[in-house]
Amino acid sequence: MSDQNAQRVLTEAEAPEARPVLSRLRVMRPPAETDLEAAEAAAADLLAALGLPLGGEGMAETPRRMAHAYAEMLAVPSFDMTTFPNTEGYDELVLVKGIPVRSLCEHHMLPFTGVAHVGYLPADRILGLSKFARVVDFFAHRAQTQERLTKQVTEKLQERLAPRGVGVVVEAEHTCMSLRGVRAAGARTVTSAFFGHLREDSAARAEFLALTGVRGEA
Ligand SMILES: [Zn+2]
Repeated sequence: MSDQNAQRVLTEAEAPEARPVLSRLRVMRPPAETDLEAAEAAAADLLAALGLPLGGEGMAETPRRMAHAYAEMLAVPSFDMTTFPNTEGYDELVLVKGIPVRSLCEHHMLPFTGVAHVGYLPADRILGLSKFARVVDFFAHRAQTQERLTKQVTEKLQERLAPRGVGVVVEAEHTCMSLRGVRAAGARTVTSAFFGHLREDSAARAEFLALTGVRGEA
């Protein structure tokens, strides 16, 4: 599972305690080529092919709702990744824990939900605290894999902040695994990616993981 970004994947049976969530503004823009009418017709075809009765009152509007629900979940929010000069010379870890993650697994188009812990070691620039949740949301609102989401958030922070180190841990439950297939309800998939000092220094990485509350090899 490891690659050049020291990404690791492991599955835990125990769900960690829920952590505080951040409130966020949402400015959404639809996916590049959303054709809601075609999506609605296709949803009706899918439901009919699955043998579901669409004639009744209860499901008559379901194809339209399905099309809109998927379009909303796939609408990538726009945001500016505002950074500020690190005038105080703060050089310790900045970590935002428990950022909500809601995404769609690209293999089944079923949701996976959980939390992200995002941290970095500042150099010359610091990031507005609200932007941590925004960057997670930006990459979550699309057909995704948890591994790619973790890596994209890490790379974006590295690219925009040029910090001394970046660490991202995502813990999520995949409904494609808990509601079907092996039906492993409660199983959580943990992915992580590290750059810079947090990748190279095992003590710094261990401190990061201890602060996130995620058990993992240091
Ligand atoms: Zn899946």
